[in-house]
Amino acid sequence: MARDPFALGMLSRIANVGLELLGELVAPTRCAACDEPTGARVLFCATCGVSVMPALAQPAASYAVFDYGGAVATAIVRLKYAGRFDLAARFAGVMAGTAALLADQVDLVVPVPLHPKRLVERGFDQAALLAAPVARRLGIEHAPRALVRTRPTPPQASLDRAARSANVADAFRCASARAVERRRVLLVDDVRTTGATLASCAEALLDAGAREVCSLVLASRDRPGKVQKSAGYED
Ligand SMILES: [Zn+2]
Repeated sequence: MARDPFALGMLSRIANVGLELLGELVAPTRCAACDEPTGARVLFCATCGVSVMPALAQPAASYAVFDYGGAVATAIVRLKYAGRFDLAARFAGVMAGTAALLADQVDLVVPVPLHPKRLVERGFDQAALLAAPVARRLGIEHAPRALVRTRPTPPQASLDRAARSANVADAFRCASARAVERRRVLLVDDVRTTGATLASCAEALLDAGAREVCSLVLASRDRPGKVQKSAGYED
């Protein structure tokens, strides 16, 4: 019975829900943008919540939880540039809520990778921090090293729309075709700007034999026809 994959999957999901509840009990819940105390399992306080917008219309097979801006932008900058790694699991919690809608359409989670040089500089990979708990919540496999970035690319926010596509073209390759062959992949990243990075990753995965690729980000700042810039932000 215990070897039944379905039973094992159920046990894994029950264990994960238990761990999450435990995490909420031991960690007091505070606003992800300003640290004011909030109700249990609430990401933003009422004041910051005013500036939080759900994601606008989504391109096909690209999903986002929030529109980038306000408290969402503040919270993401805290994670990426202020060492607030603790926020990753909470962001992943809301991402998993969206990912649950895709649960029967995906069977592998792959984060958008940083270039090794950037990883050394930053010390952590925010997409992998988000992808691991999303995979756990869905009860599916996480392949954090399936994709590699083959060259360091300038920050997307420093470029216009056309340059962003060229910047990330062929910047990724699949490191393990065996890991992705015939799999339905959910790509995970923190922010989608033009979608060029995700498209380049999807191409590498499909070239390696993935059956389908869709993507999920915490926030989308994609505005067709308009270049979004934000000081200090890197795609
Ligand atoms: Zn707040």
